[in-house]
Amino acid sequence: MHAPDRLLVAILVGAVAGVAAGWWFGPVMVGWGWLGDLFLDALKMTILPLVITAIISGVAPLGAAHSVGRASAITGVFIVASTLVATTTGVIIAGIIEPGAGAGHQSPGSAVTVAGASDTSLESLVRTIISPNLVSAAADGQILPIMLFALLLALALAGSGPRGKPVIELVEGLNEALMRLIGWILYLSPVGIFALLAARFGELGGEGFWREVTSVGRYVVTVGAGLGVHFFTLAGLVTLAGFAPHRYAMTFLRALVTAFGTGSSAATLPVAMDCAVQAGVRAHIVRFVLPLGTALNRNGTALYQATAAIFIAQVYGIDLSLTQQGSVIVTAALAGISTAGVPQHGIVTLMIVLTAVHLPAEGIGLIVAVDWFLDRCRTTINVWSNGVGSALVDRLTGAADRAASA
Ligand code: ASP
Repeated sequence: MHAPDRLLVAILVGAVAGVAAGWWFGPVMVGWGWLGDLFLDALKMTILPLVITAIISGVAPLGAAHSVGRASAITGVFIVASTLVATTTGVIIAGIIEPGAGAGHQSPGSAVTVAGASDTSLESLVRTIISPNLVSAAADGQILPIMLFALLLALALAGSGPRGKPVIELVEGLNEALMRLIGWILYLSPVGIFALLAARFGELGGEGFWREVTSVGRYVVTVGAGLGVHFFTLAGLVTLAGFAPHRYAMTFLRALVTAFGTGSSAATLPVAMDCAVQAGVRAHIVRFVLPLGTALNRNGTALYQATAAIFIAQVYGIDLSLTQQGSVIVTAALAGISTAGVPQHGIVTLMIVLTAVHLPAEGIGLIVAVDWFLDRCRTTINVWSNGVGSALVDRLTGAADRAASA
């Protein structure tokens, strides 16, 4: 067995053992949480230097601005299109299963406060792209302004001729060293994922978990079904990109389990990059597409938000017209894109969708208890979608590159 395969088996064993230990032993397992946090912190430690060096060493070889433009345009189209497909899937499946039908809730009129919800206007989203202070943006974990700066710097370096070349080579060297360092951290992942899952499932214990999930069981099943359908839709795109979908998914499994274990697509970025390279996507495409996707592309979150909005409307007996359902599709896509890759931020940005279609914000109170679990499921799809995006961009830019050099 190759080393990545051994690691994958160890991670899978860690994940299953973590869920089982939390389920059986209950709150005792919470004491193991620090081991998981250690793993998470070690991954997070690499994100900032990784994003900067990955973008510069990913964009600079694309060289001319038009190549960068082509890769960015394909990535952008993929993000928008796949997110809209995800939200449409969420609305259709919620319409078929009708998880909230017959609940007959009256709006209690007391607003549920969701921390940070006031920060979710589109204006503030656009304004977060440029930060006057990169250091404070980095300290706040805002990836977008850092990425924009790295992208512009990469273009400037690519245009600087011989003076820029040694700098680009230095950054490429740094990026390779970082990936090696991340490889070392990944040896911790079986234990880290075990501890994260054991502590989280242990908080409730098996019975408590079951009680929480079955209280809104149909809703959980609906979100799960939507995410499952979208997983396979994306797998179809992998085939179009010329990769064998089952092999691609197997190579990506380490990233998917890490996403489920951490509930954070940002923390999973280093693992996802490692997997994409291993799956055969060209390194400079991985370095460009995956950080960009991790900042903006959240298919799973958008799908969950669309489903949650329809569920809340059904619970309160609010009939949504076709136009309103269209608004859910579009605003959930925007809300997904504006969600950060950290645990349970999607339930905060869900407010954008509820406000846009005038649904009662207190509906969030019905789904908040199971959010930690659904968050892990949607994060897995967020990471899968970015992996698929990188395969697609690789294929489409590869064809164009070959045509240009012919
Ligand atoms: N946890 C998700 C992620 O990291 C975001 C969310 O939906 O809350 O991608």
